[in-house]
Amino acid sequence: MGFFQDMIAVFKKRELVFIESYKESKDVYTFVFEKEKDLTWKAGQHGLFSITHKKIKNPTKPFTIASAPSENVVRLTMKINDNPSDFKKAMVELKQGMTIGMSGPLGSLNVNDERPTILIAGGIGITPFRSIVKQIEAEGDGNKKPIHLLYMDSEKSYIFKDELDAINGSISTMYLDSRDKLHQEIDKFSNLYQNNGQYMIAGPKSMVDSISSYLQNNSISKKNIKKDAFYGY
Ligand SMILES: Cc1cc2nc3c(=O)[nH]c(=O)nc-3n(C[C@H](O)[C@H](O)[C@H](O)COP(=O)(O)OP(=O)(O)OC[C@H]3O[C@@H](n4cnc5c(N)ncnc54)[C@H](O)[C@@H]3O)c2cc1C
Repeated sequence: MGFFQDMIAVFKKRELVFIESYKESKDVYTFVFEKEKDLTWKAGQHGLFSITHKKIKNPTKPFTIASAPSENVVRLTMKINDNPSDFKKAMVELKQGMTIGMSGPLGSLNVNDERPTILIAGGIGITPFRSIVKQIEAEGDGNKKPIHLLYMDSEKSYIFKDELDAINGSISTMYLDSRDKLHQEIDKFSNLYQNNGQYMIAGPKSMVDSISSYLQNNSISKKNIKKDAFYGY
């Protein structure tokens, strides 16, 4: 998806009907919505979601669609701390049958070629990669390229761990809790595949920027790096 497709997608607005929410860990919640038949997205994409049931400041924010297109619901998984923004307070208030607005889907954080791929998640940045690996799993044995998921979480919460562990085949997941170990694993992949590999990073903006610079300092070309930087963390 390029810039112009994204521009068009922003004008595609719809309402999503809320089904349920549940806790993934101490401060991470998943919100589940009905998926209308005509709603499709590529695994890894995000939407712009709007609070409509009350008036708040900054009612629209981007969130990854954490479910795979093959799942029959829209899942949003977000960090909600003890001092939540008005947007997140309004999310927690949702009751079955209420709606939120959605524009999109948008973004190009998707695996769309046959190259070996490394997915690098920082904490809540696991959301697009959950969608990507679930979709690859749903599509079956066709995927031959190796996919390495490096899941860095200094708090060691590792949401979705059970689901990720259940996925096998060409996808391997490694759980890490320090930047040094993350660099070591990135080096293994980049020494092996260099610019023949595809590098994808998602997570808090500071983490994404630092890993992207690290890769470029190790001669990985910018065009082989895709990233989603989450603001607000
Ligand atoms: C492409 C993309 C995909 C993304 N996907 C995800 C995702 O899957 N999951 C996810 O969690 N995030 C995702 N994000 C980030 C998301 O859009 C928000 O920026 C992020 O969740 C922070 O939202 P917030 O409402 O807590 O933040 P902000 O409003 O920026 O607030 C930051 C912090 O300030 C404090 N604060 C703000 N307002 C108040 C208030 N009224 N009262 C008290 N304290 C307040 C809170 O402590 C809050 O945590 C994504 C971003 C992008 C660009």
